Amino acid sequence: MSVLDLKEKSVGNVAIIGHIRPDGDCIGSCLGLFNYLKAVYPQVETKVYLGDPAPRFAYLKGFDQINTIFAQEVSFDLCICLDCSDEERLGDGKPILQLAKHSICIDHHVTNTRYAGENVVEPEASSTCEVLYGLMKEEGITREVAECLYTGIIHDTGVFKYSCTSAKTMAIAGRLMETGIDFTDIIDGSFYRKTYLQNQILGRALLESVSFLDGKCIFSVVRLKDMKFYGVTSKDLDGIVEQLRLTEGVECAIFLYEIESQIFKVSLRATGDLNVAEIAGYFGGGGHIKAAGCTMSGTIYDVVNNLSAHIEKQLKELTNSCTTE
Ligand code: AMP
Ligand code: MN
Ligand code: MN
Repeated sequence: MSVLDLKEKSVGNVAIIGHIRPDGDCIGSCLGLFNYLKAVYPQVETKVYLGDPAPRFAYLKGFDQINTIFAQEVSFDLCICLDCSDEERLGDGKPILQLAKHSICIDHHVTNTRYAGENVVEPEASSTCEVLYGLMKEEGITREVAECLYTGIIHDTGVFKYSCTSAKTMAIAGRLMETGIDFTDIIDGSFYRKTYLQNQILGRALLESVSFLDGKCIFSVVRLKDMKFYGVTSKDLDGIVEQLRLTEGVECAIFLYEIESQIFKVSLRATGDLNVAEIAGYFGGGGHIKAAGCTMSGTIYDVVNNLSAHIEKQLKELTNSCTTE
């Protein structure tokens, strides 16, 4: 029996929530589940809450029904948390979880803390959308649901290229294609296309990037004043860390952007055997082995120095384990 079998649960209303600053997998999984539950359980009142979703996902059905102001003091029969590794990352959604009579967490983060009543966590899955697909009945996967799930999968796999992509991921994507989705448009429109300003800030971040640890590490930062100057927000910075990671010789890419004065959102990406989930975890964040994040405070110099000490330590351990084998 799937955790999504609501008949077994006598549920009148459901709240779907995701993590703060929702990405493609978070928005795709939340709207995929929203459309699925509306189709399969039309009698159940289903609501989705997400903070400030990026307009590039507006083609997804239900995008205009996303509640960006979170319910307060409402006790839902069921709260389903998607793509979120811990309660703190639910942000303003945390009280919805705490007040709900039942809760389910569906996720793929290796650092997931199993904070809900029922937890379906598959760290080997490419994305929450992939986990969700496995819990859905075939007949409920309409073209609209497929568009959402496909979007989540391409975002968390970098369009099927990151190491989290498996044969199973491809098989699921193939099945989703059979519903008739316009995959070319989804990939270009939500993943690759950038606005003029997004390209400008990407260019600036690459231009100002700093290479260190013999070129094994690279970092760049976007400050609040830069965001103001270019008229962009954090949602316009997607893809910068990935471009840094693709620099030849780089084993770890660090990208920071300033949330408030001297408080930085940190994104870490690894190539090779580095485990950045461990490093992000040490600084109170989390994520996946090759893609993780955290929030750190101090000067840029402090933040990069603290991170680089951990990266250097791991790189040394990896070299030692190679030479002793
Ligand atoms: P990002 O660099 O923000 O794209 O995040 C990369 C991965 O790490 C994603 O799977 C995020 O969900 C996860 N992540 C990012 N920041 C945090 C954090 N502060 N705490 C836990 N997980 C995080
Ligand atoms: Mn996510
Ligand atoms: Mn995800």
